[in-house]
Amino acid sequence: MGNCCCCGGRSSPQAKHDIKPDIIRNPPDSQFIDNHFPKDQTPLSGGGVVGGGVGGRPDERYRPTPTKSRPIMVAMYNYEARDSQDVSFKKGDRMEVVDDSEGDWLKVVHLVTKERGYIPGNYVAAEQSVESEDWFFENISRKEAEKLLLSEDNPRGTFLVRPSEHNPNGYSLSVKDWEEYRGYHVKHYKIKPLDNGGFYISTNKTFDKLCDLVNAYTKNAYGLCHVLAKPCKKPQPPMWDLGPTYRDKWEINRDELILIRRLGRGNFGEVYYGKWKNNIEVAVKTLREGTMSTAAFLEEAAIMKKFRHKKLVALYGVCSEQEPIYIVQEYMSKGSLLDFLRKDDGKHLVFEDLIYIAFQVASGMEYLESKQLIHRDLAARNVLIGENNIAKICDFGLARVIEDNEYCPKQGSRFPVKWTAPEAIIYGKFSIKSDVWSYGILLMELFTYGQVPYPAMPGREVVDLVEKGYRMPKPTTHQVPDEIYQIMLNCWDANPEKRPTFEFLTHYFEGFNVTSEVPYREVPD
Ligand code: ADP
Repeated sequence: MGNCCCCGGRSSPQAKHDIKPDIIRNPPDSQFIDNHFPKDQTPLSGGGVVGGGVGGRPDERYRPTPTKSRPIMVAMYNYEARDSQDVSFKKGDRMEVVDDSEGDWLKVVHLVTKERGYIPGNYVAAEQSVESEDWFFENISRKEAEKLLLSEDNPRGTFLVRPSEHNPNGYSLSVKDWEEYRGYHVKHYKIKPLDNGGFYISTNKTFDKLCDLVNAYTKNAYGLCHVLAKPCKKPQPPMWDLGPTYRDKWEINRDELILIRRLGRGNFGEVYYGKWKNNIEVAVKTLREGTMSTAAFLEEAAIMKKFRHKKLVALYGVCSEQEPIYIVQEYMSKGSLLDFLRKDDGKHLVFEDLIYIAFQVASGMEYLESKQLIHRDLAARNVLIGENNIAKICDFGLARVIEDNEYCPKQGSRFPVKWTAPEAIIYGKFSIKSDVWSYGILLMELFTYGQVPYPAMPGREVVDLVEKGYRMPKPTTHQVPDEIYQIMLNCWDANPEKRPTFEFLTHYFEGFNVTSEVPYREVPD
């Protein structure tokens, strides 16, 4: 701390950034890149043409122009350049933006090394903006805040500030606390906005700026559960492309990939752990010939690449110029949720962890719901697990382009009958509501630690019985709380319209079993 950079006078132009900056980082979970630099701030001066002479060559002189209008970004993480077009930097380094028109990648000049090239926009924040504070977490939910704070390395008093989910101008302060009867837990305090632009937790202590408020509570708890001790460590944001070379193309050069070990066997080919340029970990799905038409697949992959959310596995690109087609994805170290649940790691998951996974899957699906994209094959086998029980959905959109008859609702032995809603099996009516049905089945897989749904029943029988109103009973082998079983039943409502939305499911699991917001109790100084 001590590096409070957003505390300028309230009349300064930067003061605006304290509340809602004009220049915002590309949110990791937004599909569309939303930079807000005014047009007149973005021209390239001095030969800054994309692909021509970029890459931070020392001989390429950056010709300074009046810097007033050019935003300065400060690095929030370290970054190692991945190809000839990008610039390495360390946390805290300052860079001047010369072009922000290329989506996730900002073209910058590093103010110390003078290197010029691209940097990932979500690794930096506008200087003096609230986003550049170590304690500010722009894109996390309450549940994720709790998960991060409860990490063992964090002492009592570790904290973060995040935008309030319910009050557009407010924030929430989340603090790790310890009490004898509860052990470690997280308390959340509302930071409310004042009409004149200031902030407060308690009405008798108001602050002009968010960082003033945070600073004050680092010195004195003033009635919080604990003085604010240290900002929570921020996890590295996801990279959506392998490198800047791939920012606008996604046919990956096959020679840049090495396949190191087989991770598993998918329905359509083998899946490998590999490295791109001997450096970046990737998962490579190889598609058996004839699984799908290359043209249809490429069309679908182009759509998939546009859908970006932290709960969806990132698609880096494809190698489609020769067979077998490769799909190159973000590598998830713990493999599929189904395998994970059945093996040792997953067996140790406690109820809270299961709720957290249910929440993450609902959150990824909420995003697809908002984009009107249907998954069609949502199941524990299509959710991948990374470190710290991070869950991400994969294979969204793929089911549509599969040409294999075995995958066809009417005839295929590989068609996931037990996961598919009756209207989708019988009439081919796939919708986000049929995904909600599948989500209910996934919940059953999750809370039974990977049991096969409708155990011992053949698929054909399941279709007939479900059509007649039969539903999987509450398991006797595992403890599934009544209210979660009720959610499953709601997902399996015969009438698709009556099934919950993913938005509802996300909120439901996010709020499940958590301590409610702590009413502020002022104690004397
Ligand atoms: P398919 O969809 O073709 O049936 P899957 O996606 O199920 O193939 O992949 C098969 C196995 O490969 C999974 O069970 C998982 O263990 C592994 N796998 C797939 N994708 C990844 C990934 N991105 N990261 C890590 N492991 C993966």
